[in-house]
Amino acid sequence: MNFSHSVFLKNIAQTTGNPFLIDIERAEGLYLYGPEGQRYMDLISGVGVSNIGHRHPSVISAIKEQLDKHMHVMVYGEFVQSSPNELAEKLVSHLPDNLSCCYFTNSGTEANEGALKLAKRYTGRTEIIACRGAYHGSSHGSLSVSGNEVKKSAFRPLLPDVRFITFNNIEDLSLITTKTACVIMETIQGDAGVRIPSQNYMKALREKCNKTGTLLIFDEIQTGIGRTGKMFAFEHFDVVPDILTSAKALGGGLPIGTFISSYEIMQSLTHSPMLGHITTFGGNPVCCTAALATLKVIEDENLLSKVEDKGLLFEQLMQHKRVKDIRRKGLLFAFEFETSEEVAFIVQECLENSVICFWFLSCPNSFRIAPPINITEDEIKEACKIIINAMDKLDNL
Ligand code: PMP
Repeated sequence: MNFSHSVFLKNIAQTTGNPFLIDIERAEGLYLYGPEGQRYMDLISGVGVSNIGHRHPSVISAIKEQLDKHMHVMVYGEFVQSSPNELAEKLVSHLPDNLSCCYFTNSGTEANEGALKLAKRYTGRTEIIACRGAYHGSSHGSLSVSGNEVKKSAFRPLLPDVRFITFNNIEDLSLITTKTACVIMETIQGDAGVRIPSQNYMKALREKCNKTGTLLIFDEIQTGIGRTGKMFAFEHFDVVPDILTSAKALGGGLPIGTFISSYEIMQSLTHSPMLGHITTFGGNPVCCTAALATLKVIEDENLLSKVEDKGLLFEQLMQHKRVKDIRRKGLLFAFEFETSEEVAFIVQECLENSVICFWFLSCPNSFRIAPPINITEDEIKEACKIIINAMDKLDNL
């Protein structure tokens, strides 16, 4: 066991008063299994990682096949390999024409770092605009454009020249000017509690960026790879970003991220200075192979077409007098309650009944559900019954 990591988690558990530590030995599809055979329904998919379930057999066999070939050789430069190339081709086949070039990274955080650097290089500008309530990662750059003021204040100085606007507020778009290199934004804010922007806002945002020559970055690390019923959530809005970032579910359980843009924009990171972003393991063939297999599973099993119906079923079965609001796109949910205590109780009560749901980093009075998109109707019914039972017990609090 990784000692420092487990101590870190125990500290969190003690500070929050939540004994949320379970031992997991094995994972399969929707389920996690403990060492004594306990079975848990994982309704958060590792916070949106296992969109096609844990250890999907097609992903596992693709990984095994790749392991028998090679694990890591130099990816960029003259040794271009088939797995990152095939993955890039598959990804861009799901994207509009301007999103044609992928740079693979090790994580979502690194994808956002690359995207911010790319925007600065391409525009020659330094100002970055981000949204209050955003989560883009934990490194200095990605933390600088995130909204958590408490966390940020612990690590100052951060990136200079970052300004914040309120998500989904059209008036604030006036802060975007010809000095702005980029606006970075989650298409739907995840950790802020599933905040869905209006069509009008997205249209006005795109127009303002066009007018000022500002690059628009959509962070789809949590919302992409089928989570909302489209391969990427921006497809719900009639707006295309200049740079798209993806990670989490992309690797089907292995770590990989990417930032994607046009050939023209991407060139500015490869020249002057040469190799403006380098990473040893980014584009690792095993991770790329897992990601390619993940995308194929989504296509072959026609998973996107069923997401909305499953989302609606959840929504219908989760009606309860304690639920103040349900925010949902596809199978990405926030259930809002009056207080954070109710949420903590439900999360704990569900865990005791072998269902894993979770809270949000920046929205403590809502709880999060993001199940695998191949969850079945019967599984949804079973899960909702347990969660509703937990909500019923709130009256005894
Ligand atoms: N952006 C968003 C929207 C995220 O949800 C996350 C992870 N929670 C990240 C970036 C960071 O990704 P990673 O943890 O892979 O670095």
